[in-house]
Amino acid sequence: MGEKGILMVISGFSGAGKGTLVRALMQEYDQYALSVSMTTRAPREGERDGVEYFFTDREHFEETIRAEGLIEYASYCGNYYGTPRAYVEEQLSRGQNVILEIEIQGALKIKEKFPESVLIFVTPPSAAELKRRLLGRGTESTEVIGKRLARAVEESDGIEAYDYIVVNDKLETCVEEIHRLVDAARRAPVRRKALIAKIREELQEFSKGAE
Ligand code: 5GP
Repeated sequence: MGEKGILMVISGFSGAGKGTLVRALMQEYDQYALSVSMTTRAPREGERDGVEYFFTDREHFEETIRAEGLIEYASYCGNYYGTPRAYVEEQLSRGQNVILEIEIQGALKIKEKFPESVLIFVTPPSAAELKRRLLGRGTESTEVIGKRLARAVEESDGIEAYDYIVVNDKLETCVEEIHRLVDAARRAPVRRKALIAKIREELQEFSKGAE
């Protein structure tokens, strides 16, 4: 059996540029698969069901939780968000690295369930830049932006739980940094179980022959 893929979590404050970053990473390299989350939030203009999210209502979301169809879920600014199980498990067992672009509560649950996952926190260079990006995006009302900034304050308390923090100043540099982190993580023995088992088995065989 080959090596499983790496389960990567990318989190960051709303407006940190995670979406753009993840898209650029996928475009640059073909070894990443992006998990599409389920949410009860209303689609933003231009968002398509099944592409950015699977949009659903609370009832169906709660049914999916009960059926254990999600590997994690969380409530964020009044809406549910969760990661569907089937796609993630299938891609990992095919050796693909899977990206979850999720918030902090979900990230912590993933680390608990999958200790070998790699948690990356993306931050903009400054709080002023974050606010500028949120306003510039023009997709949220001032009230929602206020909520998201308040949430960012809370989330900043949890950054130490992540394995890595990356500053998203220049997009291309940030994409490269993340790719290199995952590439390095791939070389940790906990993520090379198949390789280690194979080497051990071969050594056993050879040592028998040498007796
Ligand atoms: P947005 O409404 O801006 O698309 O997403 C709000 C927050 O929810 C972001 O921090 C995003 O990363 C997070 N999020 C998106 N999908 C999921 C998910 O499946 N699970 C969790 N826990 N958070 C998610």
